[in-house]
Amino acid sequence: MDKIVYLDNNATTKVDEKVLDEMLPYLKEEYANPSSMYDFSKKSSKAIKEARGKLKDFFNAADEKEIIFTSCGSESANTAIRGTLATDRTKKHIITTQIEHPCVLNVYKYLEKQGYSVDYIGVNSNGELNLDQLRNAIKEDTALVSVMWANNETGVLNPIGEISQIIKSKNPNTKFFVDGVQAAGKVPIDVQETGVDMVGISGHKLHAPKGVGALYVNSKTMITPLIIGGHQERGKRAGTENVPYIVGLGKAAELATDNMKYELTEVKRLRDKLEKGIIHNIYNARVNTGLAQRVPNTTNIGFEYIEGELILLHLSDLGICASSGSACTSGSLEPSHVLRAMNVPFTAIHGSIRWSLSRFTTEEEIDYVIEKLPKIIEEITAISPYQDELKALKEFKMAKSI
Ligand code: PLP
Repeated sequence: MDKIVYLDNNATTKVDEKVLDEMLPYLKEEYANPSSMYDFSKKSSKAIKEARGKLKDFFNAADEKEIIFTSCGSESANTAIRGTLATDRTKKHIITTQIEHPCVLNVYKYLEKQGYSVDYIGVNSNGELNLDQLRNAIKEDTALVSVMWANNETGVLNPIGEISQIIKSKNPNTKFFVDGVQAAGKVPIDVQETGVDMVGISGHKLHAPKGVGALYVNSKTMITPLIIGGHQERGKRAGTENVPYIVGLGKAAELATDNMKYELTEVKRLRDKLEKGIIHNIYNARVNTGLAQRVPNTTNIGFEYIEGELILLHLSDLGICASSGSACTSGSLEPSHVLRAMNVPFTAIHGSIRWSLSRFTTEEEIDYVIEKLPKIIEEITAISPYQDELKALKEFKMAKSI
């Protein structure tokens, strides 16, 4: 297939050419181990230092010592959560949300089996967090709260600064980890302004390659390393540094800041155009997040009474890449835990599609989807077993638009 319209940037992103150019010398000539004594290693160690400085700026951290390089977003989350809890095993209560990525949710499930008591905070039908439930859940022995900055399926933003204040006012000793993977590069991440303790990000969601991530840990927060060995990353993460990828992440973070305005205006404009184009032309389409605040690149749209997987297959035939709100687990089609937590009606939950743009998405690509999608949906809708319900929905929508 020659034409690819890639609208699945929350799954992964293409590596920016400028990132690759910056990395290449460290994959070719500059291969020295940055910990070595000889002069040949100086360029590698300097490159890591510079990348750390770029990440410090990206997070608006107070000190570059607060940045730890990891291998991915999942490692950042595991290090933050398990690393914090390992420093004090007396506090046995932890809090997270029902809509976290599995790299947080499954760590919490694991910790539950290890004897921790867990509160999973819910969301409303737009995917917005129940802050009262969170406030009431914080106790004397709450060791950690983990809330994602933006949701990967819906793009809904959590009010991180406000949540931070709630936590610290109820229990100043409770640590706050934020999974920032889907917010990075889409909205500013300012750790000092929001007062968070830890934030994790992932390179491959940010136009850097897969296999690199970062974790911000403020200087007041102690963590025990997950990977024990050498003294790299100030003893917080052992293993010879992945110099080219760290350099790539540094460049990607710098470019993300440079492109933030474009992301918040132009990428948002294209996302809104796509969303409106779909909703106006397809009567059984609904935006699953209502009017919730979202990152600029994401929309999650439910197509009522039809199957998302079928839509994706038809889109794929045209070279259009999007993603289903449903995860296919061992042959059984499980609706997404995020959409279930939002109580998305059963009529739409199986037919929900996530569209996620990037700064490389073009207007022509959006127009192509708006042109092609109605016919696909019409064909799939024609074979739906819910014809009476669809007819009633169509009449209702037509009456509403008069
Ligand atoms: N957190 C969120 C919100 C994500 O969307 C993802 C990946 O999809 C991750 C964490 C995990 O990142 P990685 O694939 O780098 O481990």
